Amino acid sequence: MDSFYTRTQKELKSAGEKAGTSQELLKRLLKYDNTLEFDIPLNKKDGSMQIIKGYRLQHNNILGPYKGGLRYHPDVTLDEMQALSLLMTLKNAVIDVPFGGGKGGLKIDPKSLTGDELEELTREFTRHLAKYIGPEKDVPAPDVNTNPKIMSWIMDEYSKVVGKNTPAVVTGKSVDLGGSEGRTEATGYGGTYALLSVLKHINKKPQDLTVAVQGFGNVGQYAAQSLQKAGFNVVAISDSRGGIYIPEGLPSVEVIAKCKTEKGYLAGCYCIGSVCDIKNKEKVGGQDISPEDVLTLPVDIIVPAALENVITMKNANDIKASIILEMANGPMTVEAEEILNKKGVLIIPDILANSGGVAVSYFEWYQNIHNEHWTKAVVLAKLKEKMEKAVDKVYETHKKEKETLSLAAYIVALRRLQEVAIDHKII
Ligand code: NAD
Repeated sequence: MDSFYTRTQKELKSAGEKAGTSQELLKRLLKYDNTLEFDIPLNKKDGSMQIIKGYRLQHNNILGPYKGGLRYHPDVTLDEMQALSLLMTLKNAVIDVPFGGGKGGLKIDPKSLTGDELEELTREFTRHLAKYIGPEKDVPAPDVNTNPKIMSWIMDEYSKVVGKNTPAVVTGKSVDLGGSEGRTEATGYGGTYALLSVLKHINKKPQDLTVAVQGFGNVGQYAAQSLQKAGFNVVAISDSRGGIYIPEGLPSVEVIAKCKTEKGYLAGCYCIGSVCDIKNKEKVGGQDISPEDVLTLPVDIIVPAALENVITMKNANDIKASIILEMANGPMTVEAEEILNKKGVLIIPDILANSGGVAVSYFEWYQNIHNEHWTKAVVLAKLKEKMEKAVDKVYETHKKEKETLSLAAYIVALRRLQEVAIDHKII
């Protein structure tokens, strides 16, 4: 199996041929502007010192400052950061925001740290990054295991280093520190808007469709909530420790989310009204499922919203859904995608489906730069409009050029990058 980065490069090359991308631009996109690697010292509470690997990959800035999340996870590698930052360049082009692509992270399980250690590690990482980031240079955001609190520490530490309050250095901050209303929900809600737009093109209605969601963090939780509110029958959800499946449909996802917050995990959150307990399982006709089982349930739509490479040759043939909404980045291997394409499964690709996060990150950066504060209703209306526009463009390309939605999204991104590169005489 190709590595995540090799696979993304191959996809880029093949889309480049179809899109008529100039060799000069392709060559640039197959390389990196900057690869930053750090050894970050962490003084642990027990008196010991640990060195944590940190990365920031600045892939390409043809469209504007580098932009992309920071991930804290024990499996973070350079290869993963390379793939994800390249995907960010393409995603920002598809959703049409003036940002280039970047990604970064720390190779650490944040759950193994105390709150103070996590804050100190984040501040130390920020001091290492400070020279390379900034509102006009590179603007990080939340990703797996990072959140508004972590973004607010980064903003605070960066502001100390440069000697002035600089909210626009990161997005996804808490609202009281300059974060945008609606940023927390943006990626999940954006996925629902994208799915609804696609369904309009294929004449399907949410009320007729069942959904299973893998991952119940920032993205999965708000995707599940908004899908349920839009009328889809959400029947299963899972996190890394397991999940629940109720064939008739889950009760309020919001109530289940509260149960997860209280317990720390989803398994056993069988809720009747506000009472959530494993004892209710039989009463609601529920079944416990593993994090992997959720992808092969007999449903119409699956929504991988956890990590990459979860759909592979091993489980692709067992997938029963006819639509996949890729909310995680890179959730399927090339081989799995080939199998699913042959089966006629409609795959709404990551760079389109989860671009709502960076769309609202752009709104946040814009509000910070212009000293504005938009209401949640305004932010969500603008998000919806942006998602619909991007879906229409990708769908039109998919139909016109008889390519999959995934390839069509790459083609749209590459053409936009080429237009801007020519306009600015970069190529
Ligand atoms: P998160 O840390 O908030 O949540 C991750 C969730 O995945 C958790 O519920 C975790 O328990 C679950 N999980 C981990 N391993 C799993 C497994 N093997 N099976 C089932 N569940 C598992 O992260 P997030 O911000 O929600 O990001 C999820 C995905 O969405 C990532 O691929 C990320 O790159 C992508 N994404 C995030 C954003 C954003 O705005 N946060 C934007 C675009 C894309």
